Amino acid sequence: MSLTENIIRADVRLLSAYHVPDASGLIKLDAMENPYTLPADLQQALGQRLAAVALNRYPVPAYAGLKAAIRSQLGVPAGFDVVLGNGSDELISIVSVACAKPGAKVLAPLPGFVMYAMSAQLAGMEFIGVPLKFDLTLDLDAMLTAIRTHRPAITYLAYPNNPTGNLFDPDAILAVLREVGDSGVVIVDEAYQPFAGTTFMPRLSEHDNLIVMRTISKQGLAGIRLGYMSAAPALLAEFDKVRPPYNINVLTEATATFVLEHRDVLDQQALAICNERASLLAALSAIPGIHVFPSAANFILLRIERPGLSGTQVFDRLLAQKVLVKNVGKMHALLENCLRVTVSTPAENALFLAALQSSLNP
Ligand SMILES: *Cc1c(COP(=O)(O)O)cnc(C)c1O
Repeated sequence: MSLTENIIRADVRLLSAYHVPDASGLIKLDAMENPYTLPADLQQALGQRLAAVALNRYPVPAYAGLKAAIRSQLGVPAGFDVVLGNGSDELISIVSVACAKPGAKVLAPLPGFVMYAMSAQLAGMEFIGVPLKFDLTLDLDAMLTAIRTHRPAITYLAYPNNPTGNLFDPDAILAVLREVGDSGVVIVDEAYQPFAGTTFMPRLSEHDNLIVMRTISKQGLAGIRLGYMSAAPALLAEFDKVRPPYNINVLTEATATFVLEHRDVLDQQALAICNERASLLAALSAIPGIHVFPSAANFILLRIERPGLSGTQVFDRLLAQKVLVKNVGKMHALLENCLRVTVSTPAENALFLAALQSSLNP
């Protein structure tokens, strides 16, 4: 036996590493990044702010100033606090570790965000995937049956969902919260909330088992890695024990605090992206042989429905024209021939549309 066979878990050895394609020289529409940067004057001011940060000191792990800014600027209800994560990916991992009693299970609709299943596995929990309906809406009956059968410790609902882009029916989410009751937590993952115009945050006081999780990644700050979650104080106190004490570095802390002082800039950028989403949805819907799914996020899912032309062929032809989208066709049977494209600037969206047209009619 080799060293890795001796010491590394068999299930870890069977994993493939999270693959991020090299996007240099490409129009990058694969990862739901905000295409806009900060205006030049704010970049200058941020530079000065960061120059004054005490890089020699550990962060103060209470993160009181940043947390207060998040609570007041991002709509956390009175009486509720947040736990911060190095991206919401870390929050998913923290909740998984905290809930991983022997035999505990994790449940989520599929297709969904891949980290839910991954994090469950790494924490030693069985993952139960419940397929969406053919139109990619939530199959509430199947969800409720699976919850009764498995009594999951964690149920995830991404709102809007990734990679489908749609919002699940809020009444269905409430039915899931009631069915889970005090046997588990329901994480409403609002990674795309700035583009959705709706949120479960105000409902925290009505549901002891509700966790609302968000990230500022998709809003324009993916590079600094910051996520936050809110829930009943008793739950948050337990999760905070699992959080590595200095998980938010001082540069991230200072940058996020600064940007939240200029939240109007983030809001303007989100609004521009929502307007572009409407234009792109309309343009895509007018192309014959493409099925466009509704989106409340900063990306659009579409299915290639042309005889003799696969989603992978279109993906390859787009790439040949230097446009990188996400080929999700192999992720799940419901996504056959589907591509996911980030909504970007008017110029990049126009380039994408032109490349798509010539990929369909070469
Ligand atoms: C992108 C994404 C995340 C992860 O966000 P980070 O804060 O960048 O780790 C979480 N949930 C969903 C549904 C996402 O699409």
